Amino acid sequence: MQREMPKSEDMFRFADHLGPEKTIHLYEPALGLKAILVVDNVAAGPAIGGTRIAPGISVEECFRLARAMTFKNAAAGLHHGGAKAMIAGDPAMPPEQKEEVIRAFAKAIADVTDFIAGPDMGTNEIAMAWIHDEIGRSVGLPREIGGIPLDEIGATGFGLSVAAEVAAPFCELSLEGAHIVVQGFGAVGKHAARFLTEKGAVLVGASDSRGAIADESGIEVAALAKIKDAGGHVSDYAFAKPINAEALVELPCDIWIPAARPDVITIDNVDRLDCKMMLQGANIPVTEEAEVKLAERGILSVPDFVANAGGVICAAVEYQGGTQSGALEIIAEKISFNTSHVLETSRDDRIHPRPAAVDLAEKRVRRAMSLRRWR
Ligand code: NAD
Repeated sequence: MQREMPKSEDMFRFADHLGPEKTIHLYEPALGLKAILVVDNVAAGPAIGGTRIAPGISVEECFRLARAMTFKNAAAGLHHGGAKAMIAGDPAMPPEQKEEVIRAFAKAIADVTDFIAGPDMGTNEIAMAWIHDEIGRSVGLPREIGGIPLDEIGATGFGLSVAAEVAAPFCELSLEGAHIVVQGFGAVGKHAARFLTEKGAVLVGASDSRGAIADESGIEVAALAKIKDAGGHVSDYAFAKPINAEALVELPCDIWIPAARPDVITIDNVDRLDCKMMLQGANIPVTEEAEVKLAERGILSVPDFVANAGGVICAAVEYQGGTQSGALEIIAEKISFNTSHVLETSRDDRIHPRPAAVDLAEKRVRRAMSLRRWR
């Protein structure tokens, strides 16, 4: 059978002045490996990016997530570029199969030395240990081999709580008594809820891939986290009322936190939100046009790569041999500075937070590029 080559303009349809530097398709049928790696920009240093396992993968989504990492790493002032890898498969596949696929992926990227893999949806510190074992290059490792387990300590959730604290006065909000809703009560969502409730917020709604719950008087975060950690679902929490996943979008609250999939807030449901702040825990959870609508509706949106950089900052500290307490200190310092910089620029220049954040990140990437032979 003859294969039709994609037209060159299709192959480069995402290319712009920043990247991507390379897009690689990895295929190893005997081991069940089918993956895409996009290394977007490496001007500031080797690219750090998550390795995700998802049933549906596409070059477009992989590129958008890689670009988000370029901006996130630059905005955080890390000496790392951005990348993303997506492996096709069921994130809940049996552990032996996952190990085989991940090890095959690691061998396939052995020569791509400007890519450092980190954990993402469907992968964790054990998966990073397998990659490290194969090629000596990954972050988000288990403690026993020098890692700072970023999901266990809640590095991203901690950073989100710092961003929320800085952002609150920009929408006339106080975290004390603020009602929060978390879509996706996983590693990011549960720790964001934990740190925010420690600052006085009240969790009034939560969901996972199986269902959603709501309780205006407050959901006990530690109890819900215990259920999830034991392999249960949010719907197993007996003291809140089960609601339809779509109803979570319109649950009245002060801060709505997407912490699951990309593109969950779109032009079709953005008008149903009833909140003051959209604190973006997931990567690209709001489409471009929905984000514009949020601003028109007066909902303060804290862009993903500013608010959710805690995990990658932690990974970069680990890569440089730093400690857990040092990582948390650096996360607080960087996220606090960047959130106030972006929201002040947005307010003073009368632009939306996203362009203000992109401007901050892009200037840093361009400065790094100007120091390289290829600009
Ligand atoms: P996770 O797998 O630990 O948690 C994801 C949660 O979302 C799970 O509880 C899952 O059941 C739920 N979920 C999946 N689909 C859903 C849906 N349609 N509706 C509601 N809930 C749904 O993953 P994570 O590490 O918490 O990552 C969540 C998001 O945050 C991803 O977009 C990831 O890329 C992003 N992110 C993660 C980190 C990190 O440090 N882990 C850092 C930055 C960004």
